[in-house]
Amino acid sequence: MILKSAEELNLFKEKAKSNFEITEPGAMKIIVGMATCGIAAGAKPVFEALNEEIKSKNLDPDIIKVSQAGCIGLCQYEPIIEVYESGKEKVTYVKMDAEKAKEIINNHIIGGKIVVDYTIGAEITDKKKQYDTLLKKEKKITDDLDSEVVFKFERIIRNKAGIGIVAIKGNVCMGCHMILPAQFSNNVRLCEEFVFCPYCSRILFYEESPEGEEVFFNIEESGALYDPDEDDDEFEEDDKEEEKISSIEFEE
Ligand SMILES: [Zn+2]
Repeated sequence: MILKSAEELNLFKEKAKSNFEITEPGAMKIIVGMATCGIAAGAKPVFEALNEEIKSKNLDPDIIKVSQAGCIGLCQYEPIIEVYESGKEKVTYVKMDAEKAKEIINNHIIGGKIVVDYTIGAEITDKKKQYDTLLKKEKKITDDLDSEVVFKFERIIRNKAGIGIVAIKGNVCMGCHMILPAQFSNNVRLCEEFVFCPYCSRILFYEESPEGEEVFFNIEESGALYDPDEDDDEFEEDDKEEEKISSIEFEE
């Protein structure tokens, strides 16, 4: 839908509002987010549990209405239910399951008491607390570090789904699975400075291969970042090594 003017937007808003408006005294409307995201998160059993509980507690389904809605827009908090009651603020419950849904019916719908622990407000407060704790921890750890490295690292973890430090095994970056020049492996092993992967930019740390043996790769064959100075006699050729080379996955 394309809204072309403020007037149209207002009309749309009023129409949407009327869908959730409760006119009958004592009536309540429970909306369950049932878009694909909601269903994938388990909205269906929640929807069923709400209806079953309403039935088993002999509530009038015309007064306490359960209906489905599309995506409520907070996919990470699904399954979500919203409770609408005349003259009151909407209450949004997140990360629902069938048991919690029954509690909502008994405590909120019948008992009139909002189950604060399950509300989005509680969820956000909880997340905020976790965030503050992590921030303090981070500060403690990074206080003595070079601020430029910290800045770079923060940028990496934002871009790389939270993984900013990866092992280099043999000459392979375990973040992007690219073969790096032997010089990188050596520098990482020396631990004298921060070494960033030239492909994925993650910080590298050295890790022995599982068998405790060193694995070297033919840099010429990797076709990238070849440095003739580093092409020394470290390259080994036996069947075992070849197996390892062929098992490496390449990504862009
Ligand atoms: Zn990499």
